[in-house]
Amino acid sequence: MLSERELERYKRQILLFGEAGQEKLKKSKIFIAGAGGLGSPISMYLAVAGVGTIVLVDNDVVEMTNLNRQILHGDSDIGRKKTVSGKETLIRLNQDIEVEVTDTTIDESNISSLVGSTQGIVDALDNFATRYLLNKTAIEKNIPLFHGAIRGMYGQATTIMPGTTPCLRCIFPHPPPKEVFPVVGLTPGLIGMVQATEVLKFLLGTGELLTNRLFLWDGMQCRVEEVTVEKNPSCIVCGRKEEQIR
Ligand SMILES: [Zn+2]
Repeated sequence: MLSERELERYKRQILLFGEAGQEKLKKSKIFIAGAGGLGSPISMYLAVAGVGTIVLVDNDVVEMTNLNRQILHGDSDIGRKKTVSGKETLIRLNQDIEVEVTDTTIDESNISSLVGSTQGIVDALDNFATRYLLNKTAIEKNIPLFHGAIRGMYGQATTIMPGTTPCLRCIFPHPPPKEVFPVVGLTPGLIGMVQATEVLKFLLGTGELLTNRLFLWDGMQCRVEEVTVEKNPSCIVCGRKEEQIR
């Protein structure tokens, strides 16, 4: 049941989703990997939309160089753990939600328990090694993965539904080379909003998801493109076993 305050807080979106939809969001639990450039806008907008429980994992402390894009954190947070300042910001935005944070590096040994019984995994990371772990866990747990990545003024996003859509490994079999890439905050802002919109639609069971499609954003030209993506039958994560052996 929604409280009087919640009915008031979400009045304008209850016009869109109804009280039943808002209650669905309240009961929802979403895992966000990363409290940085993508994780900031994603967690903030899911918080104000009333997603009941946000699970946020990050292993970093706030540095000056983060502040051009990681809007969960500000000048006074420099040197503090991102999970601590992130939780503070989210609760300041919406006291009616739960925020569970863990300050750790996501790896093979802890990812399954970190994701726990959440309904979806949001990829707000900056490296493909850990993205592949998220992908594997999403397939194993049969929950969606909301992928997003950025570089400079370019960004991409897709929604992966285990069993029905290609997985991240089908689309990107090999990681791009590691680098300190350029980034301006509005790009993760924009791509993060695509991901957060996907999360909301999935939780509400409404609209058409960004499945089997890779959304590509070029901020320099202000162009959006969409590429159809397909399952790889010999994918090492989601392919058929007999195909993998070949
Ligand atoms: Zn695959």
